[in-house]
Amino acid sequence: MTLMIPFDNSYARLPDAFYTRLEPQPVAAPHLLAFNEDLARLMGISPGEVTEMAQVFAGNAIPEGATPLSQLYSGHQFGNYNPQLGDGRAVLLGETVGTDGGRRDIQLKGSGRTPYSRGGDGRAWLGPVLREYVVSEAMHALDIPTTRALAAVETGEQVYRETALPGAVLTRVASSHLRVGTFQVFAARGQTDSLKRLTDYAIKRHYPQADGPMGLLRAVSEAQARLIAQWMAVGFIHGVMNTDNCSIAGETIDYGPCAFMDSYHPNTVYSSIDRMGRYAYSNQADIVVWNMAQFATALIQQMDSRDAGVEEATEIVHAMPGLVQSEWLTRFRAKLGLTQQEEGDQAMIADLLTRMAENQADFINTFRALGTDKARDQFLDPSVFDAWEAGWKDRTEKEDDPAAVLRAANPSVIPRNHRIEQMIEAAVAGDYAPFHRLNAVLSRPYDDHPDDGDLTHPPAESEVVRATFCGT
Ligand code: AMP
Ligand code: MG
Repeated sequence: MTLMIPFDNSYARLPDAFYTRLEPQPVAAPHLLAFNEDLARLMGISPGEVTEMAQVFAGNAIPEGATPLSQLYSGHQFGNYNPQLGDGRAVLLGETVGTDGGRRDIQLKGSGRTPYSRGGDGRAWLGPVLREYVVSEAMHALDIPTTRALAAVETGEQVYRETALPGAVLTRVASSHLRVGTFQVFAARGQTDSLKRLTDYAIKRHYPQADGPMGLLRAVSEAQARLIAQWMAVGFIHGVMNTDNCSIAGETIDYGPCAFMDSYHPNTVYSSIDRMGRYAYSNQADIVVWNMAQFATALIQQMDSRDAGVEEATEIVHAMPGLVQSEWLTRFRAKLGLTQQEEGDQAMIADLLTRMAENQADFINTFRALGTDKARDQFLDPSVFDAWEAGWKDRTEKEDDPAAVLRAANPSVIPRNHRIEQMIEAAVAGDYAPFHRLNAVLSRPYDDHPDDGDLTHPPAESEVVRATFCGT
């Protein structure tokens, strides 16, 4: 059995200005921790022996047909422009076109230093690698656009953060790694030819029906509006919505300090570096608009200022808050079991959320339990819920099957922070059972999980995770 990856590498056919060709840096003793067979099949990859896959997904062996490279990009980090970022610890091996016709990047993350590493060591430690594996696959199972995890390898080397930690490499799969920041770097440098080339490439790869730069802006804005509404519907807080982490394909990318909220509050922030709460739960709806304004600014650099397109960019960005709002409303109506649209729906949702925030109600469990006795138990003062529920019950009279609608819209299980932390702790101690168990349960988030009830519970007081870290 030999690993076979049917590469077709379109990015490597772009001009040199887009990347630096280089190979991953080998590691001491690669050990395969996980290989995602379902994803491999979809991508047209035939698995090889475990030892061979460990070598390839650690970066020690370059598979036939790969054209390894690190991509150039820049971006706004917490609102400040950083003129050069790029893959500081990642190498793109190439792309495959899958059995579904989808083109996907295969990237090793944690594969060593590159010309874009700046002060970093180019490595990743086991914790963030397993976190990204579990959370990105959970997002996929929730039906939210996301990068995915093909493999995870332990390197047999240590990386040094505050302490010595086991090193690891994640094989990340994405519809592409094009970011708003990929456009920004050429726009900022006045490299208009590269910017045009990139725009054409992005349109062909992701939105073949889009007409020119403004068509691309419109398509990406729509995809991003949908994405952020989907995040909010499952209580996901990305944590670093910098423009370099904003995907042109509209996928969730870069699982650093991300977290799912336990008890609901709109201002929830977990990331230890987000001191101002720029990327707090409810701010995500505004920040995505800001990110699209940066995308528009970059795209415009290739246009004649007399071009009507410039006006169009303004119109698209100004329309975005409404777009996010309507996507949000669609998702939250479904969360209440509603399929028809009524005037008072938005106020009813807002009212429930306010009551939840004041009563520290668990976000996931409250929505999942609507219509059962368990919903009111989520509230410090259950009578606060009862007062709301009466109006909701009236409203659902007009619906065919609200219970089925809300079950399909409200997961029973999400990757809760304390379970992720416990899983990482166990893995560092050599026990991978919690990692595999989380993957298995989270692959069916809309089912009930009576045998894994512990994974659906909010954390006990002693288990609460208050801050998450980038882990870079
Ligand atoms: P991120 O926070 O993962 O989105 O990364 C932001 C930037 O820092 C990107 O250019 C990364 O490639 C770079 N980076 C993050 N971690 C490391 C590391 N350990 N070594 C080198 N570069 C890194
Ligand atoms: Mg990033």
